Amino acid sequence: MSMFSDIEHVLVTEEEISDRIAVLAEQMNALYSDDDPPILVCILKGAFMFLADLTRKLTFRHELDFMEISSYGTGTTSSGVVRILLDLASSIEGRHVVIVEDIVDTGHTLDYILRNFAARNPASVRVATLLNKPSRREIDVPVHFVGFEIPNEFVMGYGLDYSEQYRNVPYIGVLKPEVYQESAED
Ligand code: 5GP
Repeated sequence: MSMFSDIEHVLVTEEEISDRIAVLAEQMNALYSDDDPPILVCILKGAFMFLADLTRKLTFRHELDFMEISSYGTGTTSSGVVRILLDLASSIEGRHVVIVEDIVDTGHTLDYILRNFAARNPASVRVATLLNKPSRREIDVPVHFVGFEIPNEFVMGYGLDYSEQYRNVPYIGVLKPEVYQESAED
């Protein structure tokens, strides 16, 4: 059976994603310039597709860097305990930084990254997130560029996984409940 048969419904279509990324890119193009090129930091793995589409719409010079974060705890909730699996290759001291995230849920992961980055003395830090679930927030975190506000549902696709799968699905969707039940029984 195709993995697409696991999907219950589409929440954000491919076209909606690309239209919205064009708007976010315009906002960024108005804020940043070649005089002081920022570093875009992609938070792996979930934000890789967002970063790839966003960077192609930016008209100012910029660098890319990557950081991989894992929150302890499995399945569909974040525990608030965060671990760095891959750190930045470059120094962000004195640099303008844009954090590129897939989704801000409770806010714990982003809060950790922001505190960690603040200790490295960047010139500025802004946050771009494709998805935002404000109803789930446990910690107040600043988000400057938001793709879509979504309801409290676990979503996958367009870089976001469920158990490391479905990242290649080109839209944001919700899985059928039995998909979670089946893997809980494994
Ligand atoms: P937070 O720390 O804000 O609760 O969670 C942030 C991280 O949890 C995200 O970067 C993402 O990896 C994961 N996450 C939160 N909600 C979802 C969701 O609906 N789907 C997926 N695939 N991951 C999520």
